[in-house]
Amino acid sequence: MKKEMIEFIKQAQVFAKPYRVSDGKKFRLNKIDPSDTAGLTSEAKPRAKEALQMGISLLAELQDMLYAQDRWALLLIFQAMDAAGKDGAIKHVMSGINPQGCEVYSFKAPSTEELDHDFLWRTHLRIPERGRIGIFNRSYYEEVLVVRVHSELLEKQKLPSHLVTKSIWDERFADIRSFERYLTRNGVMIRKFFLHVSEEEQKRRFLDRLNDPEKHWKFSAADARERGFWQDYMTAYQDMIQHTATDDAPWYVVPADNKWFTRVVVAAAVIDALVSMDLSYPKVDKEKLKELAEAKQLLLAGK
Ligand code: ATP
Ligand code: MG
Repeated sequence: MKKEMIEFIKQAQVFAKPYRVSDGKKFRLNKIDPSDTAGLTSEAKPRAKEALQMGISLLAELQDMLYAQDRWALLLIFQAMDAAGKDGAIKHVMSGINPQGCEVYSFKAPSTEELDHDFLWRTHLRIPERGRIGIFNRSYYEEVLVVRVHSELLEKQKLPSHLVTKSIWDERFADIRSFERYLTRNGVMIRKFFLHVSEEEQKRRFLDRLNDPEKHWKFSAADARERGFWQDYMTAYQDMIQHTATDDAPWYVVPADNKWFTRVVVAAAVIDALVSMDLSYPKVDKEKLKELAEAKQLLLAGK
């Protein structure tokens, strides 16, 4: 790898680190400012965009190796309030990647079939294969977020009543931690992103959607109603991060009031994850080299 690239990777690692939570015990959401841009002003925006472009081509290169090596899988989980920019972050950061090596799943309210299974079932089916990057646009974390904020959703899950106690959220956290440890031990690296937008910025973005006919499709009246539960959601997010941030499966709490900044942090964290896999193209053995040389001769000898 070229020297500039190695330097760039180091910078990406330093850049992502402040947003990484790998031990949740002392985590406090109110310590994270959604409008934080790491001291970069809007003048830095063009440079940040350039860096993002460079990051995107680096990601493509790393993904190519991930695919060729076919050992690790990478699972990226995105959680956020509406209009925090999940879709945009996924679209931009993954824009350079070979679609064959990447799968995106959006998890909506569960179907009747899904409700007939344990809560990890539908997501387990979508865990990426080796060599691939899997992206969850929402995930099993909804089970300790929306389901916690709206208790009627828990009732729909048809659990035997004596299993539904006040410990249910702690039990779900424990189950999620075990599931993530299990995946990690099987070569699935997990990185989780909470795009942290402020209540005021969300309002601005909703109004934007309402004022622009091309964005109307993105708006649903339910989104505005969910704002009424903002504090409940923030409490649920904080508790979730406190209980599920681990060394193996850290959360990145990414300031999300400035989209350009969010994307740079996400790209940097994904680069960091892939680099930590220590990827390389598979080495070809002697036998194979001989085969290649013969094939070359055959091609050269022919017309
Ligand atoms: P957009 O940003 O485009 O609105 P979205 O991810 O919000 O995308 P929606 O069509 O609005 O997509 O539907 C997602 C809805 O499904 C969310 O309100 C979410 O809380 C809900 N949901 C996801 N998983 C679950 C779950 N396990 N139980 C209940 N509701 C869930
Ligand atoms: Mg929505």
